[in-house]
Amino acid sequence: MRPGPTRITSCPHCSGFVAQTTLASRGRRSHDHALWTDGKPHDEPWTVYKTGQVCPHCRGWIDPSELKEVGTVPSWEDFTVAYPEARHLDAPNVEELLALAASRLTPLEERDVRLRAWWTDNDRRRTSADPFFVPHRPRQVPEVDLETGELVPSSWPPPGAGEAATAPVDPGPPLTEVEVANAHALLVSMDGPYTQDLVVRAEIMRRFGRFEEARAHVLQLAGHDLAPFRRFLLQLIAIRDRYVRMLPSE
Ligand SMILES: [Zn+2]
Repeated sequence: MRPGPTRITSCPHCSGFVAQTTLASRGRRSHDHALWTDGKPHDEPWTVYKTGQVCPHCRGWIDPSELKEVGTVPSWEDFTVAYPEARHLDAPNVEELLALAASRLTPLEERDVRLRAWWTDNDRRRTSADPFFVPHRPRQVPEVDLETGELVPSSWPPPGAGEAATAPVDPGPPLTEVEVANAHALLVSMDGPYTQDLVVRAEIMRRFGRFEEARAHVLQLAGHDLAPFRRFLLQLIAIRDRYVRMLPSE
């Protein structure tokens, strides 16, 4: 990955300087391929404002075509020497996303923005920890019937581990009222038979602790590519786990 020059542009709303790093070639890190249970992708095009980023000065939404170039700085130079006020574009926070969702958008755009708000909220709860870890026991995973999602009782909890050792851990900060309202709006707008709709609905149900409904959605996920993901979700549901998890790479 070779960095290209840093473009210094000015914000169309406040004229503040915004630095944009251009990449001559784009590398990918291994965790870019991580698959989260809430379906958050590494990179997905936006239907609104293209970049989905905001001005670091005035927090206005940025359409990159409206950024006016004021200069460039070679990659090996610190751009803040020539442009002390320049800052990189920023990611929107949940409040900004939800305010955007409530503005004049098409239904598809609103759905897109609400989904991003849900993923952004989830960012503070993501864990790549092994959900099937039991202290002082060899690793064992819960076995599930892939047709029904039912737990094979002899497989979990691991022999001798006891209920307490395998009780699902605290699922992180509880969902706020705002998150719950956003999740309910998503359940309405993502009610199709599509993979992303099913994944999002299953995740919301699992997070709400409505495990039977979560399982019913997961069982509708079809396709060979999705088999490991489907199995993992069924395992999590079987042990009543409510964390945002990363699909183990095994
Ligand atoms: Zn601005």
